[in-house]
Amino acid sequence: MRCSVCGFENEGRYCNNCGALLTGGTEAVPATGSWLERCPVCRTRPLEETVSRRFLGLTSRQVYACPGCGATFTPEGGEAFRLSKAADQSNPIWKTYGNQTLTGGEWRRIAHGGVSDARQRALDIEYALGEIQKGSVPELRVEANAVLLKRGERAVAVIPGVTLKEPRSVRKTYGGGGGPSIRIAKGVYFRTGGFASRSESHEEIREIDSGTLTLTNRRMVFTGAKRTVNVPLGKIVGMEPYRDAIAINRDGKQRTEYYTGIDTTRLTLGVAGRTHVVPLSGVVFMCMVQGLLNREE
Ligand SMILES: [Zn+2]
Ligand SMILES: [Zn+2]
Repeated sequence: MRCSVCGFENEGRYCNNCGALLTGGTEAVPATGSWLERCPVCRTRPLEETVSRRFLGLTSRQVYACPGCGATFTPEGGEAFRLSKAADQSNPIWKTYGNQTLTGGEWRRIAHGGVSDARQRALDIEYALGEIQKGSVPELRVEANAVLLKRGERAVAVIPGVTLKEPRSVRKTYGGGGGPSIRIAKGVYFRTGGFASRSESHEEIREIDSGTLTLTNRRMVFTGAKRTVNVPLGKIVGMEPYRDAIAINRDGKQRTEYYTGIDTTRLTLGVAGRTHVVPLSGVVFMCMVQGLLNREE
């Protein structure tokens, strides 16, 4: 059976890769009771309060340990506990949550086959971005649109406060013609760095203009004080995402265009009744362009 959380192929009741419940979340988390009633690692025994001696027994602290599997949870203040030890380091719960500090409520959910808040958020965002890529592109601030639209054209996103930057020197073009080849790998949303820390930073970049970036179902339009840039989506031959910017390479233009500051605009992603507000990062923008192209063809 395929794990609906991480995609790992499995047998049995719980995922061997991430520890989530495999039967489609049918096991209900009890409404009341302490998280100590079921060890989140082996899911068989209750945890017991024990005193762990440290520094030759001179100091001690209270921990919660499982007499069955040896997992140990250390209080980290408030309602938070850190999974500080597991006898079996190959246990999927240890591999996913080892040394993480979570609330008792989260540990209780994990003990019953659920996932932590942060992991749920990450999974929801990945899922929502996948849906956007497939063509369910949300509208963003379209009431602020000032671009004159052509017949059959509609505004999709209006992103204010964007700065257009270009490299001073012309680089050799890459990825020539033949339409856009945009690939968005799983997990990339959480790994992209900021524009300032980009690897080829020895390249001299100059600011061209500030203005509004508008995405329609046909093109992207940058409207600045000095310059207007019109890019039909089909002319985009490459995109590179940053946490706060998007780099565009287009057919017939040698210089890469960097649109920075897009992340000050936020959008709300909803999955299964849960909503997450996320900054409009380069990856989100790429997914929107991809989704529009997928829907138009
Ligand atoms: Zn899994
Ligand atoms: Zn246990």
